[in-house]
Amino acid sequence: MSVTVARQTELDRTRFFINGDWVKPQGTETIRALEAATGEPLGTAAMGSAADIDTAVLAARAALAKGPWGRTTPAERAEIMLRFAERLAARADATAQLVSRENGMPMALSPLANGAAPVGLLHMYARLITGIALEEIRPSEVGATIVRREPVGVVGAITAWNYPQLLAMVKIAPALAAGCTVVLKPSPETALDSYVLGEAAREAGLPPGVLNIVLAGPEAGAALVSHPEVDKIAFTGSTPTGRLIGAECGRLVRRVTLELGGKSASLFLDDGNLQTFLTGLAGTTFMNNSQTCTAQARILVARSRYAEVVEALAEHTRDLVVGDPLDERTQIGPMASEHQLARVLSYIDAARDSGARLVSGGGRPKNLDRGWFVEPTVFADVDNSDRLAREEVFGPVLAVIPFDGDDEAVAIANDSNYGLGGSVFTTDEERGIDVARRIRTGTIGVNYYALDAGSPFGGMKDSGIGRELGPEALDAYLEYKSIYVSADRL
Ligand code: NAD
Repeated sequence: MSVTVARQTELDRTRFFINGDWVKPQGTETIRALEAATGEPLGTAAMGSAADIDTAVLAARAALAKGPWGRTTPAERAEIMLRFAERLAARADATAQLVSRENGMPMALSPLANGAAPVGLLHMYARLITGIALEEIRPSEVGATIVRREPVGVVGAITAWNYPQLLAMVKIAPALAAGCTVVLKPSPETALDSYVLGEAAREAGLPPGVLNIVLAGPEAGAALVSHPEVDKIAFTGSTPTGRLIGAECGRLVRRVTLELGGKSASLFLDDGNLQTFLTGLAGTTFMNNSQTCTAQARILVARSRYAEVVEALAEHTRDLVVGDPLDERTQIGPMASEHQLARVLSYIDAARDSGARLVSGGGRPKNLDRGWFVEPTVFADVDNSDRLAREEVFGPVLAVIPFDGDDEAVAIANDSNYGLGGSVFTTDEERGIDVARRIRTGTIGVNYYALDAGSPFGGMKDSGIGRELGPEALDAYLEYKSIYVSADRL
């Protein structure tokens, strides 16, 4: 199976990657992938059942317990991970285009999010695992203790569709580095691209069963969560699904990390630089058509600058280039699916009825009559208790809210069930850092927002439990063990 992205070609992904091979599904269900920009067929993929998940999990368990992976040294794993990175890099351009066609991600972002970043993560965790001691000895009251860090075991990775390659790799790379094996269940919304990971892994000589990929829906996903041979679940998706998965993992006393939704705030203080703020919107708010968990769609503006900022936002969003994600000039591509478009439009309709003031956008672009496009939309005078300010829209719909003074800005930002991203715009960086310290969120930028792979990423409150990225993410894939021995070994 190879990736081709010529527009006329439909892709066929009707086998799963299990135990190092392309395996026929045990059921007959398939899914038709449609191109976000056109609604035209893009390919067909098999949907896995609980039985396919079971085969994949048993392969992952065998690779750990009987296969060579459980006996590899960090240096050996790092070497294979670098080969995996090389094979993935060779496919990066094609993968970026494919994902853009699947979920509408503009090509200004896709080669990074679906190419360079996942490749970089394999490099980073290969380096990190060879740089830390996985075993040390310390004196104890009666002798000595060997403190070991061992792989947590078989990892079930369940991902969302908005950054399919990146969300998979933020789990796979630290898991492989730690010595775990993985069963990846990608989202059916992006049904076609994850098998690229299987092709690259196979070419790189990753031993059979170390990485397995089964596309499936919620039911088979639930079977992965509760499979008795799974030791840990790494989940990225919505908060409602995260609650279900967290509850099941609690019942099973299964390790779990949850990367969930958000409704983050971008704060424009009274001394903010308007141009810096407008330029920053590409990273704070509109990244990937605002189909981003950290999208800062609550825009809190100092009242003394409110009229000026609302007007500038309206003009800025009207000027954004909405169109084909494969066109490099495009700033806002389509929503990933018809379902997502309907969801975004329903939030726009509800906001119109709420008393908020529509200042730009508000519907579908007139010149784009196919695909799942929506106009970047700005509502001003939103109340922080309105639905638009409380719920995740997952599309380019902004809620602008005025505030009086930094204390009120912090209070409004924190008046949210979520705590994932955020930003503060001010010409006084010290003041910005002070405000950032007071906001209950996992990540926040001062005068820009950009993910740093070398630092932990994750959510507070309903945005999740645990952290990905940075050396800290390795903790989620390693268990401590203490072996009590004689003082002779010191
Ligand atoms: P979703 O919760 O509907 O689905 C996520 C994944 O879970 C999919 O693979 C889906 O098939 C699977 N799934 C659904 N029900 C399941 C169940 N009961 N058991 C096991 N698996 C199940 O989310 P989505 O619509 O695909 O993604 C969008 C959401 O993801 C947004 O809320 C967004 O904020 C969030 N997200 C968070 C982060 C982060 O790092 N915090 C990153 C990207 C996306």
